[in-house]
Amino acid sequence: MTNPAHPEIRVYPPAADVIARAHVDAATYDEMYAASVNDPDAFWAEHGKRIDWIKPFTEVKNVSFAPGNIHIEWFGDGTLNVSANCIDRHLDTRADQTAIIFEPDDPQEPAEYITYAQLHRRVCRMANILETMGVRKGDRVVIYLPMIPEAAYAMLACARIGAIHSIVFAGFSPDALAARINGCDAKVVITADHAPRGGRKTPLKSNADAALLHCKDSVKCLVVKRTGGQTTWIDGRDYDYNEMVLEANDYARPVEVNAEDPLFILYTSGSTGQPKGVVHTSGGYLVYAAMTHEITFDYHEGDVYWCTADVGWVTGHSYIVYGPLANGATTLMFEGVPTYPDASRFWEVCEKHKVTQFYTAPTAIRALMGQGDEFVTKCDLSSLRLLGSVGEPINPEAWNWYNDVVGKGKCPIVDTWWQTETGGHLLTPLPGAHTLKPGAAMKPFFGVQPVVLDPQSGEEIHESPTEGVLCLRDSWPGQMRTVWGDHERFEKTYFADYKGYYFSGDGCRRDEDGDYWITGRVDDVINVSGHRMGTAEVESALVAHAAVAEAAVVGYPHEIKGQGIYCYVTLMNDQEPSEALYKELRNWVRTEIGPIASPDVIQWAPGLPKTRSGKIMRRILRKIAENDFGALGDTSTLADPSVVDDLIANRANK
Ligand code: ATP
Ligand code: MG
Repeated sequence: MTNPAHPEIRVYPPAADVIARAHVDAATYDEMYAASVNDPDAFWAEHGKRIDWIKPFTEVKNVSFAPGNIHIEWFGDGTLNVSANCIDRHLDTRADQTAIIFEPDDPQEPAEYITYAQLHRRVCRMANILETMGVRKGDRVVIYLPMIPEAAYAMLACARIGAIHSIVFAGFSPDALAARINGCDAKVVITADHAPRGGRKTPLKSNADAALLHCKDSVKCLVVKRTGGQTTWIDGRDYDYNEMVLEANDYARPVEVNAEDPLFILYTSGSTGQPKGVVHTSGGYLVYAAMTHEITFDYHEGDVYWCTADVGWVTGHSYIVYGPLANGATTLMFEGVPTYPDASRFWEVCEKHKVTQFYTAPTAIRALMGQGDEFVTKCDLSSLRLLGSVGEPINPEAWNWYNDVVGKGKCPIVDTWWQTETGGHLLTPLPGAHTLKPGAAMKPFFGVQPVVLDPQSGEEIHESPTEGVLCLRDSWPGQMRTVWGDHERFEKTYFADYKGYYFSGDGCRRDEDGDYWITGRVDDVINVSGHRMGTAEVESALVAHAAVAEAAVVGYPHEIKGQGIYCYVTLMNDQEPSEALYKELRNWVRTEIGPIASPDVIQWAPGLPKTRSGKIMRRILRKIAENDFGALGDTSTLADPSVVDDLIANRANK
C-alpha cells in the first residue's frame, strides 16, 4: 500500500492475522490512549495491578515538572519486591517453564535452559552470598559481567535484598569501571574471570583489579568463573562465587521495598557528552517495563522472545530481564556477537530456539545487510512473528531489508524510540494497531504525551506536518527520577531548556497523519547556508547507495556556508574507495535530497566510533571534522577506541 500524501513511501497496514492475535487493535489503542491521558490516575491505578504489591498503593501519581521543583513519584505509598514479581509469583503455574535460554558465544558449547524454579534457587543463593559479603538494603553493587545468566541472577539478587545495582558493560575499561564504582560508592563489584565474546576473551577480573586500585580498600569483589582461566587473587577482598554457591542457602526472603526505592543506577551511553547516572525506582519502572514488553512485542504465552542487547545497556535491563520475567516469559540471553563465527549467527540462533520475537539495533541490521542475504536465507526463520529495532533511527533502506529478507514480509517491525532515562518505550507502532511506515517511530505508548516545540521560541506546535524538538508533557511510570547524587543536573539536563516539559534531546517530525519520525539529536541538526537539516537525512541517502554500508554525517565550520557537510562513509565489503565513487556519492546525495545537501567532504572510514550499544558517537566525529583532536571528550564508552586514531590519521583534506 502506498501513502496518499507521499506516494514514494510504501506503508504497511497490519495484516488480518496479526490483528486477530494482537493484544491491542486500532480501536482499542485509540480508546486506551485517550483514557491514559484523560485520566492518568485511573488508567495507571488499573495497570499498576499488573504486578504484585506487598502493600497496595493508594496514591498513583505525584509529579511536578515545575522549575525548581522537579519531583516524580508513582504508586508512592505501595511496597513490593521486584525479584518476587519476576520469579516467585510465577512458581505456582510455571516452575518448570524455561525462564532464560542461555546461548553461549561458542556455538559448540551447549545452550542452557533455566527454569523459573532454578532461577529462584540461583537468585536466592546469589542474594545470600551478597548478604554474607555485607550488602544490605540501599547499598550499591556494581555488576561487571559478560552476557551470562549470572548477570541476571546478580540483578535479581540485588532486587531481592533491596540493594541497588549499577551495571557496567563488560567491554568498558578499568577507568570507566572505577569511575562508576566510585560514582555510587559501591560496596561490592561482581565480575567474572574472563568474558568470551566473538571468539576472543576479555580479562574482566584483571580489568576489575586495575579499577579497584582506584577505589576504596573496603570494596569487595565477587568473581564468577566463566572460563576457569587464570586470575590474580587477593584474599579477603576477592570472593569465589562458584565455591560459595555450593554452600549458599536455597532460599532468601524477598525484602519489602517502597515503590520509590531505587532499583538501579545506569549510565547513559555517552553519545552526547559525559554519561549521566540515571536512577530508576522499583514500582513504576516494573509496571512500565512489563506493560510495554507485553504490548509492544505482542507477547503471548509460549513465545520465545529474544532481545540481542547487552545487559549493560538499558534495553537489556527492561527487555531482557525485568519486563519479560515480570510477564513470566521465556527470554533469551546471547553471550556472543552477530558476526561470530559468521554473519549467520543471529539467524542460526533464531532457528535453533524457534524465536518468535526478535529485537535488535539498526547498527546490527546494517552490518548484517552489508554481508549479503545468503547468511539469512539459508536459515529457517519461520518461527519469527515480530521484529523490533532500537537505538537509532532506522533508515528505510535497512528497514526494508529487515522486513523483506529477515521478516519475509510477514513480521511487523516495531521501531521503538526511547532512552535510558525513559525506562521503556515511549514512541512505537503497536503491531496490531498501526500502519507501519519504514523509519517512523509512529505513535506514543499509553500515557505518553509527546509534543513538538519550536527550538527557538520553545512554543508548542499544534499543527501537522511539522518539525522541531521532541519533548514530553507530563510523566509516565517508567521515567527516571533523578541523576544519582545530583538532582540539580537532572533538572538542568532535562527540564531547564523548555520549562514545564521533559526535554528528550532529540528532534522529530510529525507528519500529516500525526505520526512521529525521529530525526536524530537536536545537536545533530546542521545549518547549511541558512537551511536547517538533520544529519540523519544525509546519512539515509548515503546508505541507500548500493556501495555504502554505513555513514555518519556531521557539520563543520565552513567559511561561506556557515556549516559544511562532512561525511564518514563505510563501504560494503566488496567495494574499494575511488575518486569515481567519491563523485558518484556526491551526485547521489544531490539527486536524493537536493543540491543543498551535497557533501563537502567524504572521508572513507573502515570503522566508525560507536558506543557499546552501537550508536555512532557523532560528537567525536564532529571534533575530527573540525580538526580539534585535543578535545575529544569522554571516550571511555567507545566499543573500539582504535577506530578514532585511524580516522584522525586519515582525516580528509588535512
Ligand atoms: P547520552 O545521553 O549519554 O548522550 P545516549 O542518548 O546515546 O547517550 P541512550 O539512552 O542509550 O544513550 O540512547 C537514547 C537515544 O538513542 C535517544 O535519545 C535517541 O537519540 C536514540 N534512539 C533510541 N531509539 C531510537 C529509535 N527507535 N529511533 C531513533 N532514535 C533512537
Ligand atoms: Mg541521551
